[in-house]
Amino acid sequence: MSNSAKMPHEQIVKIKLNDKQMRENLRTAMHTLQKNRLNLVENKFNDWQGLRQRAKQAKNNAIQSLGERLVEFEKNATKNGIKVHWADTDVDACNIIYELIKKNNVTKILKGKSMASEEIGLNHFLQEKGVEAIESDLGELIIQLNHEPPVHIVVPAIHKNRYEVAQIFKDKLNAPYEEEIEKLNSIARTHLRDQFEGLKMGLSGVNFAMSKEGAFWLIENEGNGRMCTTAPDIHVALCGIEKVLETFEDAATMVHLLTPSATGQFIPTYNNIISGPRKNGDKDGPKEVHVVLFNHNRTNMLAHEDYHEALRCIRCGSCMNFCPVYDKIGGHAYQTIYPGPIGEVISPNLFGMDQNSDILSFCSLCGRCSEVCPVKIPLASLIRKLRANKVGQGENKAFGSDKLEHSKTEQIAFKLFVKAATSGGIWRFNISSAHTFNFVLKTFSHQLPVIKNWTKYKELPDIKGTLYDKLKNMEGVSYE
Ligand code: SF4
Repeated sequence: MSNSAKMPHEQIVKIKLNDKQMRENLRTAMHTLQKNRLNLVENKFNDWQGLRQRAKQAKNNAIQSLGERLVEFEKNATKNGIKVHWADTDVDACNIIYELIKKNNVTKILKGKSMASEEIGLNHFLQEKGVEAIESDLGELIIQLNHEPPVHIVVPAIHKNRYEVAQIFKDKLNAPYEEEIEKLNSIARTHLRDQFEGLKMGLSGVNFAMSKEGAFWLIENEGNGRMCTTAPDIHVALCGIEKVLETFEDAATMVHLLTPSATGQFIPTYNNIISGPRKNGDKDGPKEVHVVLFNHNRTNMLAHEDYHEALRCIRCGSCMNFCPVYDKIGGHAYQTIYPGPIGEVISPNLFGMDQNSDILSFCSLCGRCSEVCPVKIPLASLIRKLRANKVGQGENKAFGSDKLEHSKTEQIAFKLFVKAATSGGIWRFNISSAHTFNFVLKTFSHQLPVIKNWTKYKELPDIKGTLYDKLKNMEGVSYE
């Protein structure tokens, strides 16, 4: 899915930058998510940094003993009555699910939110086989109706405002045009209730699998996940192998960090801890529970001296929420289902460097993502390493590619920078003339080639005490 025909990145970035409505929607949403997280971390947690450290340690322990953890999970889950399947590639995972669908004469499945299913391209795969896969998460439903991929890993339709959602429901569900959020929710609920009627198979993702318990944890806010995992006779859960932790306590530590980081909520609305199919005397629950453990190049990352750190990711989306590039261009500009800082690290690793390396240039290396990541993934430093890899200064084994070339322009630009930065005289001259340069840029930027493309979308900051300030403050002079 991620390697389907892509638009040149310069082109799609330009389109997104000119989409004023999307930028406004994203700006408002991202600022709200940032504010909520900051308030919560500051006011509700005594030792947020200690919690991050514990989570990092628990994830590292699980990743370092991944083989052992996975076998332990399989053993204990099987004891609990869960059927565990192993898939090496994305296609293997799709085929396993399709075999279950065929065996049980299923023609339609309902899905809870699952980025893993987006990663393996499950909807498209099933559609080609004539099986309907319906999204039950509100955000996923909106973008499915509008034939779009998710724009964000936690809030897939965050680029749409309620008026746009109202129009989509009107056009695609023949619903009345309603602008009130409660009424839009009600339209979605009515539509989905009908879909659950007589449903045989539900599919979900997995947030954390616990090897000692042989159970898995699924968090969500809408209750649709619980419907998908309890209402049908068969529940299939799709789980990347890096989701396995050792204990229930480890998973609880992650949940404490996940929702505050994702949406600024203290706890998730629904915690679903699934430890097997319905037992004698249970009033509800599926008769069969299957877990598909899939690899899809994660073991290549595990073997790499640096990139294994990204396997700690708990998919909270915080790095996107705080990224100053993501909120300008949105997730679709990355043209991979994992956008933002974590996408820049894992998309080249999971889907191949050749098709996914352009997005590395989307990062300004400001480091905000690394600061907010609840499991302390050094995202900015990994992005820098991937860039070095891309231009051939690092080793390329992780990607199985030999087509990576040095960029001549980059080489010249960096040689000039090294020259300037290592020569005391040139550097002092540059610093002392920065004020004048800033003044020239602010005054004439809209006429200067190359620079005007940048300043069209971005205000240049003031440098305090600049010539520009002095001139601006002179009576009767205006440079605005
Ligand atoms: S890299 Fe960190 S901040 Fe980004 S989604 Fe993963 S866990 Fe969250």
